[in-house]
Amino acid sequence: MPRPLVVGNWKMNGSRRSTAELLEGLLQRWQGVHKAEVAVCAPFVYLAQVGRQLADSRIRYGAQDLSPHDDGAYTGDISAAMLSDMLCSFVIVGHSERRSIHRESNELVAEKAAAALAAGLTPIICVGESLEQRESNETLQVVEAQLKAVAERIGAERYASTVVAYEPVWAIGTGKTASPEQAQEVHSFIRRQLGANGADTPILYGGSVKPDNAEELFRQADIDGGLIGGASLDAEQFTQICEAADRIAD
Ligand code: PEP
Repeated sequence: MPRPLVVGNWKMNGSRRSTAELLEGLLQRWQGVHKAEVAVCAPFVYLAQVGRQLADSRIRYGAQDLSPHDDGAYTGDISAAMLSDMLCSFVIVGHSERRSIHRESNELVAEKAAAALAAGLTPIICVGESLEQRESNETLQVVEAQLKAVAERIGAERYASTVVAYEPVWAIGTGKTASPEQAQEVHSFIRRQLGANGADTPILYGGSVKPDNAEELFRQADIDGGLIGGASLDAEQFTQICEAADRIAD
């Protein structure tokens, strides 16, 4: 079983001051050696600050997106090499907000995953269905197509160097969580899709994870932790979710 992992996705939130306070709160609560691994994905402009504040800790960090290109005339974009240079460990690719608001296709997400891997970053590849797709029983087909596009670009064996996050779009930021059984069904499907290459790939669940539902979700056979949005902006709540991940490793 992969080591449990909890990643905070701060999205477009924070200021220098609130970032410092949030990390201070987290560092006070999550000290020393733990079985679960913890990371936060911050807005680009705060990565240097996050790197400085987390330098002596075991908490890792990353970004929420990247360019598929190496360098050049791509105004406003940030490359994988730049994220590596900022000592990021992770980068989220294909978050549903990027797929919907920025119209990112499965192929573009695959290009981004490839760029991340080439720079030594671990891509957190987000997959998941909309409410409409779930209601028309298309969940597994949608997730399969999202995973397949990445496998075709990076080679299925490279799934071993990634993290996959199942995030049903209807559960993100809505307060609606997939039931542990609904989530496990898709997680076990993802595990089968990844095949032998994915035996140690953490498969995270994301979508309104809170301290009171985290442990039951994380106890499912193929759920290895969580990608946490709203609750990652609160040091106490986020720590409680990290503690739930620690307990499943017992
Ligand atoms: C997310 O944005 O990845 C997410 C899961 O958000 P929330 O926890 O707020 O639903």
